[in-house]
Amino acid sequence: MTSFDYSARMDRARREMTDRGVDVLLASLGSDLPYLTGYQAMPLERLTMAVVPREGEPVLVVPELEASRVDPVPGVFSIKPWTETEDVIAIVAALVGASRIAMIGDHTWAVFLLALQAALPDTEFRSARPLTEALRLVKEPAEIELLRKAGASADVVAGLLAVHTFEGKTESQLSREVAALLEANGTDVAGFAIVASGPNGASPHHEPGDRVIGAGDAVVIDFGGTVAGYSSDTTRMFHVGEPSAKYLEVHEVVRAAQEAGVAAARPGVTAESVDRATRAVIEDAGYGEFFIHRTGHGIGLDGHEDPYIVAGNSQILQPGMAFSIEPGIYLPGEFGVRIEDIVVCTSDSVERMNQSPRQVAIVK
Ligand code: ZN
Ligand code: ZN
Ligand code: ZN
Repeated sequence: MTSFDYSARMDRARREMTDRGVDVLLASLGSDLPYLTGYQAMPLERLTMAVVPREGEPVLVVPELEASRVDPVPGVFSIKPWTETEDVIAIVAALVGASRIAMIGDHTWAVFLLALQAALPDTEFRSARPLTEALRLVKEPAEIELLRKAGASADVVAGLLAVHTFEGKTESQLSREVAALLEANGTDVAGFAIVASGPNGASPHHEPGDRVIGAGDAVVIDFGGTVAGYSSDTTRMFHVGEPSAKYLEVHEVVRAAQEAGVAAARPGVTAESVDRATRAVIEDAGYGEFFIHRTGHGIGLDGHEDPYIVAGNSQILQPGMAFSIEPGIYLPGEFGVRIEDIVVCTSDSVERMNQSPRQVAIVK
């Protein structure tokens, strides 16, 4: 198990709290809590919440029956188990005390936020996202190493799929096979495997279904999972038998657009400029109206997080930021093409976390 310097992360959180005039940070479900403590809350009806005051010891309030799941990090936080008959809202409210400004994690259930607001009428609650985003946006070397491992595992699977049998299988069957291949090749937990065949490929987030894959189908496979909590996410194209000239033309446009995005991404440029770079290639080829989503999203403990690579995001890229570059062209009733790699900003360009071939793989 990789262990991170949670003490340093807590210190950075406190500096951000000081800069923003925040008295207490509350983290429950989602990735902020594991980022700060190494512990991921169970998404159940009992509240788990870290109470991080700007000064003083952070306390992880956790259901007694789940307390043994917590790996204590001495000197970083203490653990306060609560029993079935205790009022957990009163416990958290007492820890928050006279705090005027509280920031609370985005993924906290509304039922708990509403109860805390009622119990603490003098506390102003704000979204913790701007603060935790600032913490999590630039990855540490150990985090990048995990993204690299997750990407390498996905690349092995892309290689195996290129010699896999597609014809006669349903999308959902192939999707389950992709998940199994991930877990057999270095991914801890397979997260998702979109398999979109033929005309279904024109729907970027297609739910794999009963369609039987046949000769002449283009197949979009977008898949990933986690290694020690860090995600992979890659998309490659497969074709059952020889593709048409039109398919090859569209594929080449998407490949060139993805390449242009990777070439444009580097520290000092805006997130939106990377989107512009991929979109320009697709627009110039006459397919602009068929590229119906942003170019990419950040990745880390969450599969989708900041920075979003989208028009209107003037965020300046910095070394250590990790995100996808995944342009696509979706032709309704015909097929779709998407090519996706995760990249991490280095000091002067980006490193790809995915190295598998980007040309279409001809399969049986
Ligand atoms: Zn997507
Ligand atoms: Zn993807
Ligand atoms: Zn993605």
